[in-house]
Amino acid sequence: MNITVIGTGYVGLVSGVCYAELGHQVYCVDKDAEKIELLLSGGIPIYEPGLGEMSCTNMEAGRLRFTTDLSGAVADAELVIIAVGTPSLPSGEADLRFVDAAVREIGAAMNGYKVVCVKSTVPVGTNDRVRELLSELYEGPFDIASLPEFLREGTAIRDTLAPDRIIIGTDSQRASKLLSGLHEPLNTRILITDIRSAEMIKYASNAFLATKISFINEIANICEKVKADVTEVAKGMGLDTRIGPSFLGAGIGYGGSCFPKDTTALIQIAGNVHYDFKLLKSVVEVNKEQRYSVISKLHQALGSLEGRTIALWGLAFKPETDDVREAPALEIVDRLIQLGATPKVYDPVAMDNFRRLRNHPGIQWCSSALEAAKDSDALCLLTEWRQFKEINLAEVKAAMSGTVLIDGRNAFSEQQVSGLGFGYYPVGRPSLQ
Ligand code: NAD
Repeated sequence: MNITVIGTGYVGLVSGVCYAELGHQVYCVDKDAEKIELLLSGGIPIYEPGLGEMSCTNMEAGRLRFTTDLSGAVADAELVIIAVGTPSLPSGEADLRFVDAAVREIGAAMNGYKVVCVKSTVPVGTNDRVRELLSELYEGPFDIASLPEFLREGTAIRDTLAPDRIIIGTDSQRASKLLSGLHEPLNTRILITDIRSAEMIKYASNAFLATKISFINEIANICEKVKADVTEVAKGMGLDTRIGPSFLGAGIGYGGSCFPKDTTALIQIAGNVHYDFKLLKSVVEVNKEQRYSVISKLHQALGSLEGRTIALWGLAFKPETDDVREAPALEIVDRLIQLGATPKVYDPVAMDNFRRLRNHPGIQWCSSALEAAKDSDALCLLTEWRQFKEINLAEVKAAMSGTVLIDGRNAFSEQQVSGLGFGYYPVGRPSLQ
C-alpha cells in the first residue's frame, strides 16, 4: 500500500517506519526541513531505541522516503495519516492549528479516492471537522477515519508492531476494510467502531491510566503517614485481575506530552457540554502536587534549602526517552532555584531538550550521574533510568558531601541503601534515617 504520514514526531516517525517494516511504501512528511534533512542523512531527531536502525534498513530497501513536499507525497497515496502535534491551549483545550493546516494542504493535493485518517489525539468531533474542511477543498470521493495511537515513548516500536489493540473509527466500509487489512499482520484485536467513540477511546484510556497513577500516589502519601509500604500494597492490589498490576508504581507523578494535555483536554471536552468532570480534575490536581513531595522531603531532611547543592538524576518524564515535555523535573528545578538552592542535573539523553526549556544560569549541567552527586548535600532520583538503578551507591555516597537520598521513583530497595549511611526517603515506603 502507498501510505503518506504527515508529521515525523514520536508518533508519525515510528508509525511510518513500522508501516515500511511491514512492507508498505511509505512517505513521511514534515514541514521542518532540518528534521527531514537529518532523516534523509540516516539520523533520527528523537531518542527511541531501535528506530534509527529500522529507519535506515527501510530507506535502503526503498520502502521509506522522507520529504517536505506534502502535496507530492499525498498525490501517490491511498492512505494519508495525520500525525501532527495537538498541544494544549492556555485554556487546556487541544490546539488544532496543526491538524487544520495539514488538512488544508491535503485537501489541495487530493487527486482521487483516498482514506484520510487522524492518528493525532483530537477532541471528539474533530474528524467530522476534517471531513468538512476536506470537502470544501476537494469535490471527489474520500473517506475519513480515526486511528488513535497508544504507543509509549521508549517502547514505541514494540507497541506499534505488537499493540494490545487497534481502534478504527469510521463510517465507511471501504476505509474499514483498508485499515483492518493494513493492521491484520499485527495479529492483534481490531475494534471497528464509530468515529466519535474512537476519538473518545483515546482520551478515556489516557484519563484512566492517569487516574491509576494519581490514585496510587495518594495511597503512597497515606502509607507514609500510617507506616505502610505502598509497593506491598500495589503488589497486593495488582494480584486482583479486576485491577491488574500496571500503572500502580507510586512516584512523583506523570508527565510527558500526552497524559497532562489529554487529561486537561478531556476536562474541557466535558466542560463544553456542561459536564463537570470532578474526578479527572482531582487526578490532575493530585499530579501537580505530587512532584513537590521531593521538595517537602528535602525540607524535612535539610531544613532551609538556601545555599544547598541538590543533585537531580533524570530530567526526562520517564526512562528511555529524551522527551522532557511536562516532566516533573522542570518544576522541581524551578522551585529549587526559587528557594536559593543549586540544582546539579544529569540525564543520559534528555540534557539538550531540558536546556532548551530551562537555560537558567543557576543550573549546573553534569556529564555523569557521579559528577552530579559529587559535593551535593542531597541527591534526588527523578527518572528511573536503568543506569541509576544499577549504580554503585557506596561510591555515590562517598562522592557526596551530604547524606540525603530522595528516591522519587522507588528505584532502590531497602537492602540496596541500608548500611551505606544515607538518609533515604522513598515514596510511600518507610524512610531510613
Ligand atoms: P511531535 O510534536 O513530536 O511531532 C509532530 C510533528 O508534526 C512535528 O515534527 C511537526 O514539525 C510536524 N508538523 C506539524 N504540522 C505539520 C504540517 N502541516 N505538515 C507536516 N508536518 C507537520 O508530536 P508527537 O509526540 O508525535 O504527537 C503527535 C500526536 O500523537 C499528538 O496528537 C499526540 O497527542 C499523539 N500521541 C502522542 C504519543 C507520544 O507518546 N508522543 C502517543 C500517542 C499519541
